[in-house]
Amino acid sequence: MYVIKEAKAFVDAVANEPGGEKINECIQCGVCSGSCTTVEWWEYPPRKLIAMIRAGMKEQVLSSASAFNCVTCYLCTVRCPRDIKPSALMHAVMAIAEREGYKPKTPTLTLFRTLRESMKRGRIWDFGMAARFYFSSNIFNGFKVMPVALALISRGLMPIMPPKPIKSGEIKAILNKVRSIQGTGGKR
Ligand code: SF4
Ligand code: SF4
Repeated sequence: MYVIKEAKAFVDAVANEPGGEKINECIQCGVCSGSCTTVEWWEYPPRKLIAMIRAGMKEQVLSSASAFNCVTCYLCTVRCPRDIKPSALMHAVMAIAEREGYKPKTPTLTLFRTLRESMKRGRIWDFGMAARFYFSSNIFNGFKVMPVALALISRGLMPIMPPKPIKSGEIKAILNKVRSIQGTGGKR
């Protein structure tokens, strides 16, 4: 009984996350997996991942890098016969994994967290973001892009020092505005 309750709690958590609302309407036709442009990298393709969520397999879903391979190309979304919007659903899974501190092996999550940090300042600090990303994902790849970074820095296009943060009250107002627009489906 406890297991069923836990499983339902996970499905509900995904359904309550923006993008996950229609998870229970999936008919498991597999069109999303068949259409997915990056499926070769997914441990669990989109259809299977949705089935696993509905089976309450929280640990396996959130520990897997599968959803993080979504590149938001929307092919699944335009083809899904149930208008599930699998791309948005993958974003919901990513958001929950990030929020709950899961550590799937993917540099995308590092980038995600770095961007989230930037949001706190209200401005993106390219240099800090890139440094953090390469240090925590693959430092050797960082060396490969060093010539580009140096060229940007020397032209003043990537300042080494962080930008002045926007006042927290102003960030809050911007985020509230974004949320209100999202609430109207972007029709404002
Ligand atoms: S295409 Fe839509 S209905 Fe079919 S398996 Fe994927 S999400 Fe479910
Ligand atoms: S939006 Fe994501 S899940 Fe959908 S086809 Fe593209 S990569 Fe695959």
